[in-house]
Amino acid sequence: MPFAALGLSAELVRAAHDHDYVQPTAIQASAIPLVLQGDDLIACAQTGSGKTAAFVLPLLQQHLQWRAQIRDMDVDLRPKQRVVQSLILVPTRELAMQVSETLRGLAKRLPEQAKMVAVYGGVSINPQMMNLRGGADIVIATPGRLIDLIEQRALSIAGVKTLVLDEADRLLDLGFSDELNRILDLLPQRRQSLFFSATFSPAVEALAAQLLTNPQRVEI
Ligand code: AMP
Repeated sequence: MPFAALGLSAELVRAAHDHDYVQPTAIQASAIPLVLQGDDLIACAQTGSGKTAAFVLPLLQQHLQWRAQIRDMDVDLRPKQRVVQSLILVPTRELAMQVSETLRGLAKRLPEQAKMVAVYGGVSINPQMMNLRGGADIVIATPGRLIDLIEQRALSIAGVKTLVLDEADRLLDLGFSDELNRILDLLPQRRQSLFFSATFSPAVEALAAQLLTNPQRVEI
């Protein structure tokens, strides 16, 4: 199946081709149409499966649609600053940087630039707070640092439309369960949630059940 058959806009198909992605991987072919139609998703996906682009491409498409909606609003009603629309939670700084790189690469030639900010622990919080001034469209975060930033009022996740949990099994293995619960409490109930994990223990299934609504299951 070609990328053009998945429901992605021409710009995003071109972005995939620019990266020498000729054909979608199995996870991309299954997940992208479901994400675009707004479904919640629970996906079993290993590193190397192409799982990152499976959520990044449809998130970027949603971003383009939201920007267009804001452009069509009355000037007075437009938000004064960028409201975080997509939140991608990852277990480690390395993964935050990788996801951020994939996002930036695939977004490079889009007509509307999304403001993307990666925040993670182990480095000074101040530059991240500066980056969040004026808001952001897409935030990639490790859970502990995200909570610190919310507590310092550097960002709000109350307007998030799409939540992604990447490597959910590792998020639990690294002991982020309490942080995840706190973050879930701060997110709107009405949102789309995408859940990716390489393994499915009972604890991972319980977390998925807690945050997903009528999810489509994708296994490859
Ligand atoms: P991931 O599983 O997201 O860590 O991706 C693994 C690698 O596959 C990355 O280096 C991607 O650039 C690459 N990749 C993702 N999607 C495709 C595709 N459709 N065709 C070829 N390579 C891809």
